[in-house]
Amino acid sequence: MEPSLEIALRVGCAAAVFAVMAAWELLAPRRNLSIGRLWRWPSNIGIVLVDAALVRLLVPTAAVGAALYAAGHGIGLLHWLDLRLSIAALVGFLILDLVVYAQHVVFHHVPWLWRLHRMHHADLDIDVSTGLRFHPFEILLSLLIKIAIVLAFGIPPVAVIAFEVVLNATSQFNHSNVSMPRWLDRILRLVLVTPDMHRVHHSVVRAETDSNFGFNLPWWDRLFRTYRAQPQAGHDGMTIGLPIFRDAKELRLDRLLIQPFRSDKDRF
Ligand SMILES: [Zn+2]
Ligand SMILES: [Zn+2]
Repeated sequence: MEPSLEIALRVGCAAAVFAVMAAWELLAPRRNLSIGRLWRWPSNIGIVLVDAALVRLLVPTAAVGAALYAAGHGIGLLHWLDLRLSIAALVGFLILDLVVYAQHVVFHHVPWLWRLHRMHHADLDIDVSTGLRFHPFEILLSLLIKIAIVLAFGIPPVAVIAFEVVLNATSQFNHSNVSMPRWLDRILRLVLVTPDMHRVHHSVVRAETDSNFGFNLPWWDRLFRTYRAQPQAGHDGMTIGLPIFRDAKELRLDRLLIQPFRSDKDRF
C-alpha cells in the first residue's frame, strides 16, 4: 500500500468514527458531563496533534515500517513457522491486542509508568475525546514496545495496519459517552469492550481504576481476572478521574503535558 494512501485510510477512519461517536453522544448521552466539551476538547484534540507530530518526527516508519522490514528479511516467529498469511495476520492481531492489555496493566502498577499513563485518567469526564488523550511519552514508549513485538513475532504489515485502525476506532467507541440498550451492551461485551465496561476503568475508586484494562477485545480481562462488570456507585453516581488533578485548569494542554513530572503527596 502507498504510504499516502495508508495515512489517508488511517486519518479517514479515525475522523469518521470520531464524527459518528460525537453525534451519538449529542443525540443519546449516557451521563451528564461535569465539565463538558468546550473546555476539554481543545486540549484533548491538541494532545493528539502533539502525539502525531512527535511520532512523525522521531519514528517516521512507525510499527508498519518494522513489519515491512520483518517481512522483507523473514524475521520473527510467525515467519519461521511458515504460516499462511491469513493465519499469521490473525495470530499477529491477537498478539498485539494481548500485548496492549498487558502493557496497560504494567503501566498501572509501575510507578514511573503510571505517571505517564495517569494523564489519560485525569480527564474529569469521559467521552470520545478521552479515547485519544494519551501523553506523548506514553505514545512513544508504546510504539517502541510495539515495534519490538512486531519484530520478535514477525507480525505481517496488514495485521499491524488493521490492528492500529481497529484499536483507534474501538478506543474512541469505548470511551464515548453514549447510551445504548442494556441487552445490546451485554451482547457486545462478549466480543468488544463497550463504553459501560471501559467507564469502570475511569472511576476515581482505585480498585475500579485497576480493572477492565482491555481496549479492544474483552477476553483478556476475563481470562486474567481483572474484569469488573459495573461501577459500585452506578454509571450516573460514579466520579470520573483521579483523586488528584481535580481542578478544571488541569485540563489545559500545557498542564496535561507536564502532569508526569508533577510531584504530589498522594500515593499516585
Ligand atoms: Zn488505564
Ligand atoms: Zn481509558
